[in-house]
Amino acid sequence: MSNQSVHGSRSSARDRADERESTAAVRLEGVTHEYGSTGGRFRSGDERTVTALRDVSFDVPEGMIVGLEGPSGSGKSTVLHAVAGLLVPTSGSVELRETDLAALSDSERTRVRRHHIGIVFQRFHLLPSLSARANVALPLVQSGVPRADRRARATALLEEVGLGDRTTHLPGELSGGERQRVAIARALSTDPDVIVADEPTGELDTATGADVLELLTDVGRDRAVLVASHDEATLEVADRVVTLCDGRVDDVR
Ligand code: ADP
Ligand code: MG
Repeated sequence: MSNQSVHGSRSSARDRADERESTAAVRLEGVTHEYGSTGGRFRSGDERTVTALRDVSFDVPEGMIVGLEGPSGSGKSTVLHAVAGLLVPTSGSVELRETDLAALSDSERTRVRRHHIGIVFQRFHLLPSLSARANVALPLVQSGVPRADRRARATALLEEVGLGDRTTHLPGELSGGERQRVAIARALSTDPDVIVADEPTGELDTATGADVLELLTDVGRDRAVLVASHDEATLEVADRVVTLCDGRVDDVR
């Protein structure tokens, strides 16, 4: 390992990254994000921009669950969106298994998101007019999987999350915990390498949240999970917890 690189240069950033785990599923390096500064409408530093992330660096190693905590507005969702390729940060890099998401075209980034990332939201984001099974199968439609295979896979996933007897129910006919299980099954449909979950137990009571958490830990075992949460129980199951404060990494433990 070279220790002669100039501080702050690209190579020193690379060296620092190399000193961390070599098997990162996700690696954030110097990620800064300003809302409102893209698209040419506002300029960086303009008072109308919001700096949501400042120089955020951390890894999510393969097979690990990393918790992301911090007060409301500290940047947790922005980190998750950057990891999911839903936004491209103003500067810095987000690598997924060493692929720099910012270096991809929009369509390539969408492809990576569809095939390699599973996303779980606080409010489930299920389509109300579709059955549980159709919701779970939906990402497979985009991937071009034939209908019969989609149905079979969605049914198997619903069984895996304990909802084998709810496949034809609409989201409105399910409890909050069941809806989140459907959402987790949907996130797993494409067999992603990485799961990002944004306050997945935030809408659930403690007992239901604990069940959902156990499920998330189970399915996360062979993948990598990045979960934003205020919930102590969630942070306790994490192998590592990154604390954000005002868009900066305040602590890693
Ligand atoms: P958290 O998830 O920790 O509550 P967020 O990542 O949602 O934090 O927000 C971080 C900061 O960015 C906050 O100041 C928030 O107001 C701001 N922000 C989030 N989304 C947008 C957006 N789409 N446009 C402008 N500012 C935003
Ligand atoms: Mg948030």
